[in-house]
Amino acid sequence: VTQVITPGTVLDEQNLIATSHNFLGCIVADKDASDYAFVWADLSTSQWTGCTYSKAEDLWAWVTKMAPREILLPKDLPLPASDVCRKAHLAYHKKLPPVPKAASLLCQVQKVQSLEALGLDKKPLLAQACAALLLYVEETQKVATDQFKPFQPINLSKRMLIDDVTERNLEIFVRLNGQKGPGTLRQILEQTKTPMGGRLLEEMLHHPWRDQEIILRIQSAVDFFFQDDALRLALRQILDQIYDLERLTQRIALNRFQPKDFLALKNSLLLLPEIKTLLSDKLATNPNPVLDELLSNWDVLDNYAEILSQALVADPPPTITDGGLFLPGYNQELDELLDMVDHAEQKLQNLLEQEKTTTGIAKLKMGYNRVFGYYYEISKACEVKVPEHFVRRQTLANAERFTTQSLKDLEEKLLTASDQRKNLEYHLFLELRSILASASSRFLAMSDVLANLDYWQALAEVARLNNWVKPTFSPKDDLEIVNGRHPVVEAMLGATNFVPNSLSLKLGRNFCLLTGPNMAGKSTVLRQTALICLLAQMGSFVPATKAHLGLVDRLFSRVGASDNLAQGQSTFMVEMMETAKILRQATKKSLIILDEIGRGTSTYDGVALAWAIVEYLLKRSGGSPRTIFATHYHELTALEGRLAELFTMNIAISEVNNTMVFLHKLIPGPADRSYGVEVARLSGIPTPVIQRAKELLQNLEAGRRGMETAVQEAAQMLLPGLDSPKKPLEEKEQPQEIHPLVQAIAQIEPDNLSPLEALNILIDWKRRWGQDSQDLKAMKSRKQKSSS
Ligand code: ATP
Repeated sequence: VTQVITPGTVLDEQNLIATSHNFLGCIVADKDASDYAFVWADLSTSQWTGCTYSKAEDLWAWVTKMAPREILLPKDLPLPASDVCRKAHLAYHKKLPPVPKAASLLCQVQKVQSLEALGLDKKPLLAQACAALLLYVEETQKVATDQFKPFQPINLSKRMLIDDVTERNLEIFVRLNGQKGPGTLRQILEQTKTPMGGRLLEEMLHHPWRDQEIILRIQSAVDFFFQDDALRLALRQILDQIYDLERLTQRIALNRFQPKDFLALKNSLLLLPEIKTLLSDKLATNPNPVLDELLSNWDVLDNYAEILSQALVADPPPTITDGGLFLPGYNQELDELLDMVDHAEQKLQNLLEQEKTTTGIAKLKMGYNRVFGYYYEISKACEVKVPEHFVRRQTLANAERFTTQSLKDLEEKLLTASDQRKNLEYHLFLELRSILASASSRFLAMSDVLANLDYWQALAEVARLNNWVKPTFSPKDDLEIVNGRHPVVEAMLGATNFVPNSLSLKLGRNFCLLTGPNMAGKSTVLRQTALICLLAQMGSFVPATKAHLGLVDRLFSRVGASDNLAQGQSTFMVEMMETAKILRQATKKSLIILDEIGRGTSTYDGVALAWAIVEYLLKRSGGSPRTIFATHYHELTALEGRLAELFTMNIAISEVNNTMVFLHKLIPGPADRSYGVEVARLSGIPTPVIQRAKELLQNLEAGRRGMETAVQEAAQMLLPGLDSPKKPLEEKEQPQEIHPLVQAIAQIEPDNLSPLEALNILIDWKRRWGQDSQDLKAMKSRKQKSSS
């Protein structure tokens, strides 16, 4: 066995997707499994990061999102029935390094004095996960792990968080049917020219920024390339010829390279000065702070390009042990050996001619046999005096064979030259490798630079191709999109067939209840809003004529119904689990898109749930998140005017000659109905079924009116704490009776209490107010009275 290959540690190109990371994940759980750390590392690029979680659910959501091909984990960790555990190769920790050992290993490998430099000083579990991952790589790959880039835990406060469900629902990387490529946002953005740029794009789609300063820097660079088509074209042409500098560097550093990798490295390095000249010429007349800074740190690495150019032949053999790698002139000793091997015949001939001249034996011949090697032969017929320096080796009937010292020396050289040459070439190759490996960090820094350049130009190219605009950012939690488009639907339908839509969410009006017929385009509006925010926070331009957006901390989506039968969950269960997560985790800076909540159950349960969810979102302490809620429960539109923040929109249709025409235009106000039966007719459902459905619908509509009345009545009884916009001011300001327990809590200073004091207070409270819950009951009945 010369090498152990595992899915998370493969390095060869054939087993990797150029524009995707290949992660090896490592999970560590603390003793009572109430805290988890997850590290994901790409050995092929030396990038790694990680995070800690206090809930198994969050841990697995991240594992699903990052989709490692191999996961190293504790044997006793309960696994969720999720796809990621089925698809990934699972390996188990043999022995976890204790925290102090993990810390010293990490410091040694990452060449830092303390864990603080890696952001791990307060994260012992994460440090353990990092160390366990390093040990696993060392053990399976037998390589040093000091080439890993400096570890930094992912800083979630600077990123827009998009969980795995939202990623799937928005079809960012794969379509809902699991297919990659057309129909995904990634495919629209796929205008990068280098593998490094492609991987950066993937990373940015996973974790867009939330830090406005960073976003504006990216935007400025994208704009620079957006404005200059000729520059972008020239840059794209050069980038197209650049190989995967990052993975090449890593293969060289880990001794897993082939001769052609050196050639690819050389060809890539040779293009660096060209890019520098191209950019500096442009920046001379059109300065840009981001690109100026990038250029000031530019490392042309030209000495390495020169070394490689002088060393390697244009078409090296596939393996390094066969020789034939180096150009003449690179090494004198190698040149002599090459000369020896290449011109052996000539050298023997020369020696023979020389002997003929010095001995005067014109008929001297040279031959070779396996026993004696090379020899001179003098025919007996020649009758000449044998020269003194000739040593007899063999006597035949009609000739005698001799050798000389010079012939023996030449023969020795000839016989060993071929092997020597291969050995020397191998040695020289390793020497060259170590020269290059010592510059790994410089190559990696430049591959980061190229990745950024490529990412910026790709976003500029996409913006140009699709007519996108630069978004601006608002300090408030609002959102204004004028003539927004769905990038993927637009690409499929063609720009002229797509109807743009405008939407505005702002303080006091940040909950849009969207109704409209089936097929009108509700889901499209929902998703395009989320995608526009995501694109903007990646630093990209967006498909709209204007976008002014308050930064979003988390993006949530619940779109469509999906079964998860393989995981033992029904459609409705999945729907509710996803919704539960949104209700728990959304903040006032989040953007939520909810499509068809409550559809997986009976109408009454569904309306009741959807209603309660709307109320809950609007009642969130700290402020309600921006939300777009698409529904076919038209009953809910009764909430407009009764709940502050909530407004209704619908999507227009028109009826021409009794046929529905979808206008796809977002307009204010509620829709009158769903036109489900008409849409079913368009879909080809047999006419008798449609006719019967129409009859039934008429009867059911009568029932629905009853329900609408009930809803109107219920809308008068809002959840306590929810403001209705029409509520008189005096009513709101009535002083509320404050329960003594609440007063007692207000007076407490937890920071100044010992655990024992805290416990005593709790016992006291339980004695006073918690014995038979009388007080709570009394408080409840008082509250009910006051609200009625
Ligand atoms: P349902 O209620 O049945 O789920 P919906 O209202 O959510 O339907 P979508 O799925 O968003 O409708 O859109 C249906 C189709 O209408 C899309 O696949 C697309 O082809 C087309 N469409 C949607 N929005 C637009 C638009 N703005 N311009 C042009 N075509 C659109």
